[in-house]
Amino acid sequence: MDLGLAGRAYAVTGASSGVGLATAALLLADGAHVAACARDAGRLAAALDPLPRAGGARVYARSCDVLDGDAVTAFVGGAAEALGGLDGVVNNAGRSLMAPVGETTEAQWREEFELKIFSVLHLVHAAEPYLRRSDAPAIVNVNAILSRQPESRLGATSAARAALLNLTKTLSSDLAPIRVNSVCLGLIDTGQWRRRYESAGTGLSYEEWSAELAAARGVALGRLGRAEEVAHPIVALLSPRASYITGSSIDVGGGVARYV
Ligand code: NDP
Repeated sequence: MDLGLAGRAYAVTGASSGVGLATAALLLADGAHVAACARDAGRLAAALDPLPRAGGARVYARSCDVLDGDAVTAFVGGAAEALGGLDGVVNNAGRSLMAPVGETTEAQWREEFELKIFSVLHLVHAAEPYLRRSDAPAIVNVNAILSRQPESRLGATSAARAALLNLTKTLSSDLAPIRVNSVCLGLIDTGQWRRRYESAGTGLSYEEWSAELAAARGVALGRLGRAEEVAHPIVALLSPRASYITGSSIDVGGGVARYV
C-alpha cells in the first residue's frame, strides 16, 4: 500500500540508533524527507549516510539535545526551511532509568520528567506552526508499556511514561486537527538492551541472554522485538492513511502487556 509519504517531511529525534534510526530509514525508503537529530553528530551522520533514499528524499541532520528548548527550536526551524515545511514529528529520543524508587534521587526524578515530558513539549511547541500548514499533520510519541504496567525497578521511568501517555491524550484534543498518537514499546532489541547485556557480564551470548530475558518477562512471542517492527507502526500513524486515528496508542510488545 502506498502510505502517501513521498515528498512529505518528518522530524525524528534520537535518529542515530535503534527505533529512531529504523524510523528514519523507513521514511526515506518511502520517499519522505527526514529531519534527524541526536546529541552525537558524528554517530548520527555515520548512521544516516548509508541509508537508501527513494525519489529524491533528503536528510537534514543536526546535533541537538532535546532537553535544550532553544536547540530544539533551532533544529525544527532549520529543518522546516531546508525541507520545505514539516508534516510530522516523532518524539523518540530517550532512555530509561533502572533504579528502585528508594534508590532514585530527586535529581534523577526530575531528569526523567525533563526527558519524557519537557523534551516532547519542546518539539511540539517548535513544530506546531509548521504542522498547522500541512494538510496531513501528525505527531507520534514513542512511549512504553511501562506507562500502563509499571515496574518497581523502573519506578521513575514508569511514572514519567504514564504522564506522557496522559499528556498525549490532551495534546490530541488541544492540537486537533494535528493528530497525536503513541506507540508503546515492550522490550525492543536496540542499543539500550545491548548496553545492559554488556554491563551484566553474565558470560552468556547476547542471544541466550535476550531469550532468557524475554522468557522471564513473559513475552508471549518469546523474543525481543526488532527496531523495524516498531518503525512500521510509527510510520503508519504518521501516514495520511491514518487520517481518523488520534489520541490512540498501539502496543508493540510481543504480548508482554498483562492488561486487557
Ligand atoms: P537507543 O539507545 O538505541 O537510541 C536512543 C537515541 O536517542 C540515540 O539516537 C541517542 O543518540 C538519542 N538521544 C538520547 N538522549 C537524547 C537527547 N537528550 N537528545 C537527543 N537525542 C538523544 O534507544 P531505543 O531505540 O531503544 O529507544 C528509543 C525510544 O524508545 C526511547 O525513548 C526509549 O526510552 C524508548 N523505549 C525503548 C525500549 C526498548 O526496549 N528499547 C522500551 C521502551 C521504551 P545520542 O546519545 O547521540 O543523543
